[in-house]
Amino acid sequence: MPAKGVVLLSGGLDSATTLAIARSQGYECHALSFEYGQRHARELESARRLAAALGAKEHLVLRLDLRAIGGSALTADIEIPKGRGAETIAAGIPITYVPARNTIFLSHALAWAEVLGARDLFIGVNVLDASGYPDCRSEFIEAFERLANLATKAGVEGHGRFRIHAPLIALSKAEIIRRGVQLDVDYGLTWSCYEPQPDGRACGLCDACLLRRKGFAEAGLSDPLPYAA
Ligand SMILES: [Zn+2]
Repeated sequence: MPAKGVVLLSGGLDSATTLAIARSQGYECHALSFEYGQRHARELESARRLAAALGAKEHLVLRLDLRAIGGSALTADIEIPKGRGAETIAAGIPITYVPARNTIFLSHALAWAEVLGARDLFIGVNVLDASGYPDCRSEFIEAFERLANLATKAGVEGHGRFRIHAPLIALSKAEIIRRGVQLDVDYGLTWSCYEPQPDGRACGLCDACLLRRKGFAEAGLSDPLPYAA
C-alpha cells in the first residue's frame, strides 16, 4: 500500500508542482483546498482541475470564513498592490499577507491526516522569489512539524512521526517551473493572479503575476496564461 500524503493545493503554480512531486515520490495524495473568503473563486477552479489532472486520490475543499477576520488585501476590501519591482516585493511583508494563513491551513491538513492515517503533509512554500511571508520560512515548517507530533493522538501514542514536506522551500520560481515541466505539470491549469480581470485574463501587475512572469522568463519558457497587461 502506498503511503498517504495530504497536499495543500491552492490552485497556484507552487502547490501544483508540490502535488506533482508528492505523486512522483509514490504518495497516494489527498489534496486539500480552502474556500476561505478569498477575493475570487478562480484559484479554486484551478485547484479542482489540478487535483484531477495530477492524479490526486481525492480532493477536499473546506470552507473557512477568513473574511470575517479580514486584515489582508485578499480577504478585505483593501487595494491589491500593483506594479511593484522585485526589490520592493522582497523588502517587507505586504498587505496580501493573510494573518496566520499557513498555520490555519496546516492545522486542518494535520487533522485530516490524523483521520486518514497519513503522516506526511506537503506544502508548496518557498522563500526565494517569495513575498516575505513569515509562514513560508523553514523555521516555521520545522516548528509546525514539532507541534504536529506533540499535538495529536497519533503523535503522542507513537504511531509514526508526522513530517511536513516543503519540497520547494529552497527553489527559485524558475527552478520550480522547470521541475514541474519535467513532471508534466500543465501550468495552463494553474492560477496565480490576485485580481483576475472581468474578461478572465490575469492582471499582469500584482505581486503574484510579477513573480510568476519573472519565473517563466528566467526559466526560458512561455507562460500559457493570458495577461491583460
Ligand atoms: Zn495579477
